[in-house]
Amino acid sequence: MGGSAVVVGGGIGGLAAAIGLRRIGWEVTVVERARVLADAGAGISLHANGVRALDVLGVGEAVRAAARPQYTGGTRTPRGTRLARMDGAVLERELGTPIVGVRRAVLHRLLREALPAECLLIGVEVTSVDRSAPGRVRVPVRDGVLDADLVVAADGVHSRLRGQLLPGHPGPVYSGSTVLRAVSEHPVPLRTDFELTWGKGAEFGHIAFTDGRAEWHAVLNSPPGIRHADALAVMRRRFGGWHDPIPALLDATRPDAVLHHDIHELATPLPAYTEGRIALLGDAAHAAALAAALTTASTVEVTRGCTPTISADCPLRTVVSSCPR
Ligand SMILES: Cc1cc2nc3c(=O)[nH]c(=O)nc-3n(C[C@H](O)[C@H](O)[C@H](O)COP(=O)(O)OP(=O)(O)OC[C@H]3O[C@@H](n4cnc5c(N)ncnc54)[C@H](O)[C@@H]3O)c2cc1C
Repeated sequence: MGGSAVVVGGGIGGLAAAIGLRRIGWEVTVVERARVLADAGAGISLHANGVRALDVLGVGEAVRAAARPQYTGGTRTPRGTRLARMDGAVLERELGTPIVGVRRAVLHRLLREALPAECLLIGVEVTSVDRSAPGRVRVPVRDGVLDADLVVAADGVHSRLRGQLLPGHPGPVYSGSTVLRAVSEHPVPLRTDFELTWGKGAEFGHIAFTDGRAEWHAVLNSPPGIRHADALAVMRRRFGGWHDPIPALLDATRPDAVLHHDIHELATPLPAYTEGRIALLGDAAHAAALAAALTTASTVEVTRGCTPTISADCPLRTVVSSCPR
């Protein structure tokens, strides 16, 4: 039987968890600190486990319709020599669904649209969770307290709630990589749906979208905190001599469209993803460095796997340990 849940964080993980809980009869409030509910990233490659999980959440068809299946691609050297080829059709046959490339903003909007507006409390930062009342968890918000059976902490890699629940955990560390990325302004002729190019201390990749535009990203080994007045010019200097279509992707980009983030990861695994009536989810629980970052897929997959077994009076530790792996 359903109970009531507060989901802290309205990213892809938090929204997916809220959809899953509502589908099994829970009342859910998602609390998001940003004033506008959106995802600021560029593009995402969603692997088969994530796509299948979205099917179970009832949004798979909408995401597939907005996404481009990844059939062609692979890994190359900066001169264009092929190191590995990806055959997406084989993967589709084996796994029952293709990997898809989609704009993060589109995926986020489709998840948002699967929730009634009254579930979303936006522009409110959660600073703590009160666990003092037996059998309840209370979340102080701007003008009151939300009282629930369950709190899902989906507040990202720098999770404040994780710090409160597991004060002995060292928290995230800088992975050694920084990433610059953007979505092209207009379509770019691309021969592949998805590609990575590996050079010394740098990776460049693209994800093609249905409208012919594409996301590109450049991962650089770098100290943290370095920012550039003209990031696109830096990209052109670093990657302008790499194989086609890399220069064309940079040429199709507006300078102010380039996002730049340092990548942090949870190098020390958490002792558990649950603590009493609180569950950690997504990057708050298992943020991985970029090379391992298929974490959106794992996040929605965990959501899909766990929610059918959650009930207000079942210990969360039992639910998580029974999730499919
Ligand atoms: C450059 C890059 C590329 C990636 N590419 C891929 C990819 O191709 N495929 C893939 O599967 N994964 C990819 N990942 C990983 C993926 O983006 C993340 O694992 C996923 O988005 C995590 O979602 P989340 O909801 O857990 O966290 P987040 O997206 O970080 O969401 C957390 C939310 O919580 C809110 N919040 C934080 N603190 C509070 C608070 N105290 N109170 C209220 N709200 C709060 C934040 O504002 C935010 O909206 C990539 C990651 C990066 C950095």
